[in-house]
Amino acid sequence: MNSDTQLSLFNESNCNQKDLIPTDAKIPIPSGTYTSLTELTPHCQNCHRCELGENRTHAVVGRGNPQAKIMIIGEGPGQNEDETGLPFVGKSGQLLDKILASVNLSTEHDIYICNIVKCRPPENRVPTPEEMAACKPYLLEQIRLVDPKIILLTGATAVKGITGNKQGITKIRGQWLDWEGRLCMPIFHPSYLLRNPSREKGSPKWLMWQDIQAVKAKYDEVTGDWGRKF
Ligand code: SF4
Repeated sequence: MNSDTQLSLFNESNCNQKDLIPTDAKIPIPSGTYTSLTELTPHCQNCHRCELGENRTHAVVGRGNPQAKIMIIGEGPGQNEDETGLPFVGKSGQLLDKILASVNLSTEHDIYICNIVKCRPPENRVPTPEEMAACKPYLLEQIRLVDPKIILLTGATAVKGITGNKQGITKIRGQWLDWEGRLCMPIFHPSYLLRNPSREKGSPKWLMWQDIQAVKAKYDEVTGDWGRKF
């Protein structure tokens, strides 16, 4: 789909000015463009601001509670996500759901999950800085609309995409960062935990358990949710 086609497609859907989403990734999508995630979703599904739009089956926008107090941001869709249109499904997603459930958090009620880029990079490669920059306005709109108290960044790419911090995930995981006035914590990506199954003290899984307990404690603190303990 070329730029003209995309612009006309957005034009046809509605005569509203905000449907003119620029195909040139250098042109920003201003904060406040969308009034809801429902408005944002079809734009991602028709977007060609970067080349990842060329081969997707589905743009993967998000899942969970659109008013959640915790947002989890991953890197990008894999094959299962591209096929289903939902983030963090498949083995990684099942493990993530299990980790959250272990501290009485549910993806349905307490969490909104999305990714740095909405379309699957070929061969699951890391998205390029240009692709991340092209897609970032959608993510910033998602953050503005969901308005989470806590953001969990799964893996180094998510940390880099949001904060610009290029440190390795093993160095910065478990630390609270302030980003744009929001509490953020880098954590391991569940796929990394699948590759490192040991539960020994100091192992990635053990460290994740420490981190998720710290997240739950902070969640209870910021929401005053003292009644929902394990
Ligand atoms: S990855 Fe993001 S910017 Fe690139 S085509 Fe998909 S929705 Fe658009």
